[in-house]
Amino acid sequence: MIKTTIYADNAATTRLDQRALEAMLPWLQEKYGNASQPYSFSRGPKKALREARELIAECIHATPGEIFFTSGGTESDNWAIKGCAFADLNHRVTITSSFEHHAVLNTCRAIERLGQPVVYLPPTPKGTVLPTSLESCITDQTRLVSIMLANNELGSIQPIKELCFVAHAHGALFHTDAVQAVGHVPIDVQDLGVDLLSASAHKFNGPKGIGFLYIRKGTAIASFADGGAQEFGRRAGTENVAGIVGMATALKSNCDALQENEHHLQLLESIVTKGLDAAGIRYTRNGGVNTLPGLLNLSFPGKSGEAILHRLDLMGICISTGSACDSKNTEISHVLRAIKLDKTLALGTVRISFGKNNTMDDAKRIAEALTKVVVC
Ligand code: PLP
Repeated sequence: MIKTTIYADNAATTRLDQRALEAMLPWLQEKYGNASQPYSFSRGPKKALREARELIAECIHATPGEIFFTSGGTESDNWAIKGCAFADLNHRVTITSSFEHHAVLNTCRAIERLGQPVVYLPPTPKGTVLPTSLESCITDQTRLVSIMLANNELGSIQPIKELCFVAHAHGALFHTDAVQAVGHVPIDVQDLGVDLLSASAHKFNGPKGIGFLYIRKGTAIASFADGGAQEFGRRAGTENVAGIVGMATALKSNCDALQENEHHLQLLESIVTKGLDAAGIRYTRNGGVNTLPGLLNLSFPGKSGEAILHRLDLMGICISTGSACDSKNTEISHVLRAIKLDKTLALGTVRISFGKNNTMDDAKRIAEALTKVVVC
């Protein structure tokens, strides 16, 4: 019997939600008008954008005027960090962590090249940025603190509310890269207190190439793209109506089923870990106890994560790893280096990230396959 591919790399991207696909199609076909034009053919796209903005705002407890459509997580992160720096070129400090996604880290490097100082906080070995660590380096010269809501390799969820409190107490703005969290855990920007929040549709069963940046009303941030008057004059460019409608539909669909999905994903996690335990496999789980549902970052001591990935690939299973080898070197990811994971563990690290489409049978097959490749 031919077995189908098991996709367990949902932290990399997810399958498009069927309802999102159906909601997108009319805007790609018969209703393709440019939302900025004044004639009646453009009224539909304009209304679709308004409704999508309202839906997204409702899902994260924002107001529609605080949602700005972007091309995805990378652009949202760039806008948040560069936009704050460009709004205030007084060489005030940006604080971030050393285990952020490259969309944040490389944007911070870019503003450093422009003479804007950046401080990189180390996370704990369990993958948490502690509010006390932020306290120890924040000053009244800090412009922005940018800490991710959930780490993309470890799944570790950060104490955003507490970190944000520290930032605000020193007069700094707070941005969170919530790309891995939106659509997977409850998000309430009022409760968190954040000023800026990045999201990307393809991480929550929406289409690729579309995302949003939440900008709290009144936040001092420069426009991202200069050009037309789209996005309240702050991010120019003809709107991707189909993508935006797909994103809103996917987000609503995931947010309506957050608890149900969480229970399902936790069940899949436990099938894998219980399967490994029952087979007597030695491994450690990274990322502490408060992690994204469905994300398992596991280290198999003395094994090669890359070899595990390739052997699972031959069995039709897609997962990810925390290290990559070329002919001369083995490159351990900046995240595993940031949490100072022992080298023998780091080299044997894999990430399994389940999504709502995965089944219990997928989890059982992954546990069996891992057992097989790790034993020999
Ligand atoms: N931030 C995090 C935490 C991510 O995991 C990713 C994608 O992997 C991004 C930002 C970039 O998002 P996008 O692929 O939408 O540009």
